Amino acid sequence: MEQVKIVITGHIDHGKSTLIGRLLYDTNSLPDDKIKEIRKVSEDLGREVEFAYVIDNLQEEREQQLTIDTAQLFFKTKKRNYVIIDAPGHKEFIKNMITGASQADLAMLMIDANEGIKEQTTRHPYIIKMLGIKNLIVAVNKMDLVNYDEIKFNEIKKEILDSLSKIGLNPEFIIPISALKGENILNKSTNMDWYNGLTILEALDKFEIENKIKNYLRMPIQDIYDIDNKKIIAGKIESGKIKVGDEIKILPMNKNNKVKSIEAFNSRKDFAMTGENIGLTLENDNDVKVGMIISDSKNLPKIKKEFNAKLFWMNKELNLNEELILKCATQEVKCKVKKINKRIDSSNLDIIEENSKILKETEVGEVVIETEKEIVVENFSDLPELGRFVIIKDLDISGAGIIN
Ligand code: GDP
Repeated sequence: MEQVKIVITGHIDHGKSTLIGRLLYDTNSLPDDKIKEIRKVSEDLGREVEFAYVIDNLQEEREQQLTIDTAQLFFKTKKRNYVIIDAPGHKEFIKNMITGASQADLAMLMIDANEGIKEQTTRHPYIIKMLGIKNLIVAVNKMDLVNYDEIKFNEIKKEILDSLSKIGLNPEFIIPISALKGENILNKSTNMDWYNGLTILEALDKFEIENKIKNYLRMPIQDIYDIDNKKIIAGKIESGKIKVGDEIKILPMNKNNKVKSIEAFNSRKDFAMTGENIGLTLENDNDVKVGMIISDSKNLPKIKKEFNAKLFWMNKELNLNEELILKCATQEVKCKVKKINKRIDSSNLDIIEENSKILKETEVGEVVIETEKEIVVENFSDLPELGRFVIIKDLDISGAGIIN
């Protein structure tokens, strides 16, 4: 069955955790003890249901790598399975999204009907757009706090549509909900007869998620092992397929080669596909190194020392031409930011400066990056795995970017 990855974004306290709790609860996806816990906590607090507490707890436990089964953030509809990529803090969200720790198919933006648009309400969509996530639902939450007022809803709807259109985003659905009370999530609200649209779960099921599998072969080399005098070249096939006897190229050195065998867990196989982790032996493995990219011999990727990118900066300050390290798939090279064409405030998308010399924390730069050696890249929209990178400064992941 198809599995769709959702990311839920929005300003703090606008109801992300509560919606996650509600989605899991309404679709019977929470284990019994969690349901009991929710009821108990809610009673203690004198509330109807208190999802936020339990979900936040769950996320905390997960962050600390305790024994939480990630399956708890899965839910199912008649049509398909969903997994919620949780985005604890703002910085983590951006880092996870850009580094590809989480590649979402679909995004949901939460807005508190009472508070309206806030800083993160515009910052997150910018990232959503940057990552090329086209499927977007806006949920106007806490409608119970504004007496389920249609006029209030329409005001916020207009405001958010204006703001999103500036970024070039056009949400498919804008849905008035109460995550806390479970209105227009699974069940239609009886308090908002003026709303004739779909519920959240109905809307989710409407999206067709495109199949992203490509024909061309790209396999970044992750490790090289010597086993029984054989050199096993290991990595994950990020796109395409491979079979024994295939003519391949090892990039960036651009030498022809041929697949001798495909090894997987002590067994041999004749072919392997996108998403598989495999080991290969090659006809000529002399100069093959970790960080090189295996491609088919016909559709070659771009090999570059300089490229344009959008860079989200998460550290104190980035200076032009300072020495940095860039990691893209398994490639790792020294690099510098040669130009910052635009320096952008990610909360309101204003251009702070053109031809800038610095980027500060949480700013986005439209930059030109120069690497010390040639590397293999793709446009992010063509193949995210080779189209995104992180920048290491002072041993920390300090920036994340996408290539365009
Ligand atoms: P997050 O920071 O975006 O994850 O927000 P939470 O889910 O933690 O919610 C923040 C607060 O708003 C909590 O106290 C929730 O109980 C409350 N809340 C969330 N959704 C609703 C809603 O639909 N109606 C009302 N009245 N309160 C809500």
